[in-house]
Amino acid sequence: MSYYVLEDLYTSWARVHLGECSSCNYGQGTSEGASTTTQWHGPYEERSQAFEKMESLEKDDARGCQLCNP
Ligand SMILES: [Zn+2]
Repeated sequence: MSYYVLEDLYTSWARVHLGECSSCNYGQGTSEGASTTTQWHGPYEERSQAFEKMESLEKDDARGCQLCNP
């Protein structure tokens, strides 16, 4: 199991995803291509590592993805 953190660089928004989540695609994101306003962090082997990273970003809106429910 691998975990990734998606950070929005310009808003107070971040999400933890499982690698196999369709929104994550192992850190590649969706088929629309790479975004210049977001950054992926990871992969992390442990769920706790991903959530610690997300908390370190100090985003107000930070939680696990509702689709993959990491
Ligand atoms: Zn997800």
